[in-house]
Amino acid sequence: QYALLHMLPAHLADAHMSGDIHIHDLEFFAGRPLNCLQHDIRAFIKHGLKVDGTGDHTSVAAPPSHMETLMNHTGEIMLAAQQNMSGGQAMSLWNVFVAPFATGRSYDEVKQAIQMLVYNLNMAYAARGSQVPFTSMQLEFGVPKFLQDVTAYGPKGQVVGTYADFEDETRMIQKAFTEILLEGDSEGKPHLFPNTIYTLREETLKGDYDDDLRLVHELSAKYGSSYFVNMLPKYRGQMANYMGCRTCLQDTWTGDWEQDCLRTGNLAYVTLNLPRIGYQSRDENDVFEYLDNYMDLAVETLMIRRNQGLNCLNNFDILPFLDQKVDGETYYRIQNATLSFGFCGLNEMLLALFGEGIENPDANKFGIKCLEYINARAKSLQEETGLRWSVLQTPAESTAYRFATLDKEQFGDKAILQGDNGANYYTNSSHVPVNSDISFADKVKIEGKYHSLTPGGHIFHAFMGESYSDPDALMSLTNKIARKSDIGFWAYSSAFSFCLHCKTLMKGLSNKCPSCGETADVEWYDRITGYVQQVGRAKSASGGWNPGKRQVLIDRRRFEDN
Ligand SMILES: [Zn+2]
Repeated sequence: QYALLHMLPAHLADAHMSGDIHIHDLEFFAGRPLNCLQHDIRAFIKHGLKVDGTGDHTSVAAPPSHMETLMNHTGEIMLAAQQNMSGGQAMSLWNVFVAPFATGRSYDEVKQAIQMLVYNLNMAYAARGSQVPFTSMQLEFGVPKFLQDVTAYGPKGQVVGTYADFEDETRMIQKAFTEILLEGDSEGKPHLFPNTIYTLREETLKGDYDDDLRLVHELSAKYGSSYFVNMLPKYRGQMANYMGCRTCLQDTWTGDWEQDCLRTGNLAYVTLNLPRIGYQSRDENDVFEYLDNYMDLAVETLMIRRNQGLNCLNNFDILPFLDQKVDGETYYRIQNATLSFGFCGLNEMLLALFGEGIENPDANKFGIKCLEYINARAKSLQEETGLRWSVLQTPAESTAYRFATLDKEQFGDKAILQGDNGANYYTNSSHVPVNSDISFADKVKIEGKYHSLTPGGHIFHAFMGESYSDPDALMSLTNKIARKSDIGFWAYSSAFSFCLHCKTLMKGLSNKCPSCGETADVEWYDRITGYVQQVGRAKSASGGWNPGKRQVLIDRRRFEDN
């Protein structure tokens, strides 16, 4: 609450407390106001690594000579930057940029080196108070066309040709990474980090990469942990990078993929409570007026947050990792970081206005109109301020729970809530309600329309039932989604359980282990707020999901293969 009292004017603090808007990560507002970051590993391949940003207080590493050293540096970069930020750390094009280090190395050596990185990322337990850092890794199946002629840097930071020369190594690293995730930890539990994201390009789907694709779908079938980025829709340029939490950057800001997608990220977002707009509006014009008001609050908040970010970087000098200079330029490109409008409960707003939700074509049309309106505001703000305003599907089930709880108090029976008494929530962003009985194809069609309208981040959750454990069936779905829809980012999620007593992995949410009969220490896993997590069911679990999140899990309808 420190930020609310000291940094925000009363009307913004009130808007947050009452639930018109939600200001995220308030506890970090003062000291770590910047949310998430997409790294460029090449900066450290060329110049070595100073984890404190200056090299004055820690050992300084020269540009790495070996794959193993580079794996260590990859982990250290994520950990070091995490200390400067409130949100996640990600790397994209990583396996392409690392590929020169795999030259002349055997597959087993490469796999061993990557395994060390994966364990390091999952065992840095002290970094965020008994939470490992939130890390994401986006992998390519081959060297993308736009990187073919780009200068490649290898051991000791030396130029070693262009990335086109490293297609085989790029593939080898991707395969080894996926195999390690597929094996799980030594007990057979999934590695929860990094969130691993696979880029699907036109050329990926032509047959040459089918074996690699199949392995990734084995991972989907087993742990549901892989994500897919679709580069085929018309709204794409050459590059789009995501994090497991769904925030996204695309090369459509300046048009330069390095400037737009690397060494920058989502600066911050504020979420608009859409259902509340529905309860208060008499007609459609009212809706747009309320949207204007809520967006004004968001703009004011985000500008304060950005200024705090600039102060922390330039005046207080408390973000030294981000502030370090690379080739004369500050590592973190704050000028390209996104300021985003998030939103929650479009479905319930439509229900309040029309008595029909997002599944109804007419109601859905108005939903799209609202999103176009928010995008138009982002665009005019870009022109006014020169800053990168964006729109995203808020990644926060806890916001959905908080808004629903506050609206129930304020609007009573008028409030349209999901879940049952005591555990109410709103439908995430522009998603179809989790318990909807529409077909998979219709869900793709409805939600796909919103991905081009949420350039700052989005996700399509394909919640699969227990029958969907066949990698080939998932792979054929992937082909359809990539070729025939505008879905930009998605994951197949199937709930599973793990017996902490005898280490048995089970499909679905089980209350009892079939091998040893254990009931108390059976942990559940599923994807929520975008990424696969432990639910906290087991007796020995330290934290649990809030009641709203748990209710979503129970209400969730899963698609079966029939
Ligand atoms: Zn057991």
